[in-house]
Amino acid sequence: MNTGYDLIVIGAGPGGYVGAIRAAQLGMKVLLIEKEKTMGGTCLNAGCIPSKALLTSSALFQQIQQEASDHGIVCAPPSIDIPAMISRKNRVVSSLTRGIASLLKGNKVDIIQGSAKVNTPGIVRVGSEEYHSDSILIATGSRPAELPFLPFDHTSVVDSTDALTFSEVPERLLIVGAGVIGLELGSVWSRLGACVQIIESMTEILTGWDRDIAKTVQKSLEKQGIEFHCRVRILEGQTNDSGVLLKAEAADGKFRDFQGDKVLVAAGRKAAWDGIDTKSLGIETENGHITVSERYETSAAGIYAVGDCIAGPMLAHKASEEAAACVEMLAGKYGKVNYSLIPGALYTKPEAAMVGKTEEQCRAEGIEYTKGVFRFSANGRAIVSGSAEGMVKVLTRKKDDTVLGVHIAGEHASELIHEAAVLMEFGGSAEDLALTIHAHPSLSEAVKEAAMAAWERPIHAL
Ligand code: FAD
Repeated sequence: MNTGYDLIVIGAGPGGYVGAIRAAQLGMKVLLIEKEKTMGGTCLNAGCIPSKALLTSSALFQQIQQEASDHGIVCAPPSIDIPAMISRKNRVVSSLTRGIASLLKGNKVDIIQGSAKVNTPGIVRVGSEEYHSDSILIATGSRPAELPFLPFDHTSVVDSTDALTFSEVPERLLIVGAGVIGLELGSVWSRLGACVQIIESMTEILTGWDRDIAKTVQKSLEKQGIEFHCRVRILEGQTNDSGVLLKAEAADGKFRDFQGDKVLVAAGRKAAWDGIDTKSLGIETENGHITVSERYETSAAGIYAVGDCIAGPMLAHKASEEAAACVEMLAGKYGKVNYSLIPGALYTKPEAAMVGKTEEQCRAEGIEYTKGVFRFSANGRAIVSGSAEGMVKVLTRKKDDTVLGVHIAGEHASELIHEAAVLMEFGGSAEDLALTIHAHPSLSEAVKEAAMAAWERPIHAL
């Protein structure tokens, strides 16, 4: 039995590795166990980072193809070398996963590669070895959800990990699910020449996002060639000589078939805790997630859980914040995650981002609110860079001007949103934002103008 650890962390994703580093910084002796060869979990290996690498490459391709001549740049039509594009993505991933490994090493976290098994409190097994600690942190993440009638074969019926490693551009790509992952990967392959159809059972794309933002994104993606089929329920699917055939029913009761070379099932992810024997440990689960207290402790004393395997939005930054808060509290310090201010971002063209409440939430909660909207078509920097589509929407509490939510569709929305997040973390008002001087010309002036519209009135709009 290996003893002497203050904390054993299982899983080296953004939950696990951040928890391990922070715990070590707080003076704990930490062991991190990861079953894969590289650090970083889904986020670095098969999620946030590789998807953004391919989004960047495909956007560059699209830009050269469609915008170069407008700038007076004359070049031969570009062509694509998919293996080279995938290699670049792999290099980006590898540089970041190696970076995490050296951070862990630098913080003196012990790392073991192997599948952890826990069925007795305080004891973690890896192969024939046993490790003891009074505190165990489960950060085992999630995996793509399968359609019950169409299991992944990783060739024709693929998950997001497969869609990050295609060796060629599929001619016809079907995507089930118009959430963030479906839209991002749909954008990648559509920009590279695939005919992409996205099938969504809900009324509109991007459930949970501001409706105006979702509509702006959908309109723009449609212009780029992606076809959307909302309120369509897949009933069955089968692989055939030409790829895969989906049989579906639309809201009007009509049946229709979708034939693709491949179908990417991006209809959500399921929490995972392989190797953790929740039953014998007495760990409660609810709606497919591990249940935790405010201290992230499960119903088994001394066993904690964070990230995708517990409830809440499946986002890397949410996992990291939870892990840091959990180990702060373990060290006897203060730790808290502000769940009402977790930003969300979508890296399509235009990008989209949100923080705080949507109009729909305000209405459902009976909050009287004021709305200020400013369009990028009136923003100098957006016009200069040829990306004038989209808007910023600022929602404030009517009675005191406090900002309740900010929603952006437009270039660099994923960066702009943090101005709002900081303001809202400090309980700021639209007036605070409107009176803050913003450099000109900048996209962030649109955020200021939307705040001015919510507070009094904007200068650059009628
Ligand atoms: P994970 O990152 O899944 O890490 C869990 C780790 O635990 C894995 O490495 C796994 O191998 C290991 N593990 C599991 N069981 C064991 C065991 N028994 N023993 C040892 N190791 C084990 N989020 C964002 O915030 N922004 C984005 O842009 C974004 N883009 C995404 C794009 C895609 C295509 C996908 C799939 C996801 C994306 N996400 C994004 C979501 C993000 O990746 C996850 O929310 C995040 O990785 C969750 O972190 P985690 O630490 O909880 O779990």
